[in-house]
Amino acid sequence: MEGIDILSLDKSRLEEYITSIGHKAFRAKQIFSWLHEKKVRSFDEMSNISKELRETLSKQCYIDYPKIIKTMTSQIDGTKKYLFEMNDGSLVESVFMIYHHGNSVCISSQVGCRMGCTFCASTIGGLKRNLSASQMLTQIYAIEQDTQKKISNVVVMGTGEPLENMDNLLKFISIICDEDGFNLSQRSITVSTCGLADKIRELAKSKLQITLALSLHAPDQKLREQIMPIARKYSLDEVMDACRYYFDKTGRRITFEYSLIKGVNDSLQCAKKLIALVRGFNCHINLIPVNPVRETGYLRPDKSGANKFLETLKKNNINATLRREMGTDIDGACGQLRKRHIEEEI
Ligand code: SAH
Repeated sequence: MEGIDILSLDKSRLEEYITSIGHKAFRAKQIFSWLHEKKVRSFDEMSNISKELRETLSKQCYIDYPKIIKTMTSQIDGTKKYLFEMNDGSLVESVFMIYHHGNSVCISSQVGCRMGCTFCASTIGGLKRNLSASQMLTQIYAIEQDTQKKISNVVVMGTGEPLENMDNLLKFISIICDEDGFNLSQRSITVSTCGLADKIRELAKSKLQITLALSLHAPDQKLREQIMPIARKYSLDEVMDACRYYFDKTGRRITFEYSLIKGVNDSLQCAKKLIALVRGFNCHINLIPVNPVRETGYLRPDKSGANKFLETLKKNNINATLRREMGTDIDGACGQLRKRHIEEEI
């Protein structure tokens, strides 16, 4: 699309732009509120902005929302999956979830992914491109408008590796947390990474109060390399050091995600190694029975196997939970909706 992607400008950049075209800085705050608090989709709706300025904005900028092309709603718990089409035809998946502590949206940060985790459907077709800040924001705004529900938590855990798209991720956080806009608190945002150690350190330096989730999935280097190719580039030691650094800089407890895969990482020996690995770490372990993906052949352990793993951690005073499963009747988490749609089109 041509022109300025106005939804990707944080308030200070919007101010710079508005003053550069000869208007007062306070106009930027009003426009920002139209875009991110009231979430209008056209400049014409900005009723306290002069016609002349609205016309200039229409000529120079665009407000772009993705199209909802498919949804699936769980009859069990109201989880709703969305398949969006971006203006270049790219497909992106997001999920709306209802928890007792509020409604949560899981957004994608890239179109596709190049990290190659062996259990994940999102990476099978590779990476197409990064999403802009506005394309991360509008997944949330479009879902809010569709559900008419307040969204109090955001997890960047959909398709893509968010720390590979750091600039846009930081812009996204700055905009969504702005008090003149959506006004989300940083503590209500979780960013999940497969473990780009240098980027974790970079993020730590920005001293945000967001939660960092590390996709650990294996308690030692050898097994981690087998299931996550990124582990060859950043060793487990490096990644754990980076997480410690993150905690030291921000004071925020780290979440470790551990997808239980039957016969791969769910043994008692793995549980013991995991305990030793995180001993003394201020963290929370989130166990997730792996979502079976046709291409991977991986299966989840049965309920008693998953519970045994959990109990072993707990008995050793490790803070851990087995993730409540959401939308089991609409399966296909982790990029499978998008992938299936692409296959059907071909
Ligand atoms: N790239 C980031 C964020 C996207 S993946 C990351 O790796 O963390 C979000 C989470 O879903 C990660 O923990 C990822 O490992 C996990 N995941 C991917 N495929 C899965 C599957 N089939 N079953 C369970 N969890 C999966």
